[in-house]
Amino acid sequence: MNEINYIHHMQLYFASNNHHKRIEMSRLLGSHTLLLPKDKGIAFSPEENGQTYIENAIIKAEALYSIVKAPVISDDSGLSVKALGGAPGIHTARYGDDESSHQLSDRDRYMLLLKNMEGVKDRSAVFTTALCLILDENRRYIIQESCEGAIALTPSGTSGFGYDPVFWIKEANAISADLPEGEKDRYSHRGKAARIMAELLRIEENRHD
Ligand code: IMP
Repeated sequence: MNEINYIHHMQLYFASNNHHKRIEMSRLLGSHTLLLPKDKGIAFSPEENGQTYIENAIIKAEALYSIVKAPVISDDSGLSVKALGGAPGIHTARYGDDESSHQLSDRDRYMLLLKNMEGVKDRSAVFTTALCLILDENRRYIIQESCEGAIALTPSGTSGFGYDPVFWIKEANAISADLPEGEKDRYSHRGKAARIMAELLRIEENRHD
């Protein structure tokens, strides 16, 4: 037997320090408790040097699992813009940074994106999330999902985080940050992936009942 507590909900470490992602993941995973490394005083900033969202999700999950030796979930995500040849992609979190620059704010980054898209007609873009779940040494799951849309001409809305004020969700026909808090989950890359993850966690719980 392993040491995971499967009673009704699991305690999962979330391999991220992004509290916006934690809010969304907590909402999406329902009864499961998500702990951020910093909640437990763990300094966590692994080098995300993978070539894909999946590789980076695995890097984050493995790095945290090697410290906590308990169930871990990670999220690596990004925005890929057709007119920019797929950029910023896996570099979305660092878009606009250079060696000397201080950390830009979310707003600085999406305003830079709008500037780089000035005059561009085909504004199609896709948000992607890879989630990695490590339950123990021998069991792990990886899910990748995406959300199609386009880059808006001007920012709008106050809900969500990151690039939500400039991301128009095709399926919702709305800018992500204009959707009421939580409604984004119905369409978002993270919403789709996390619902599958929640289903996997249910299967795992039932296995050990
Ligand atoms: P990561 O933390 O390395 O996965 O970087 C993700 C990047 O994508 C950050 O810049 C986030 O702000 C952005 N991002 C991820 N998911 C979303 C989303 O659902 N809405 C808006 N921005 C997002």
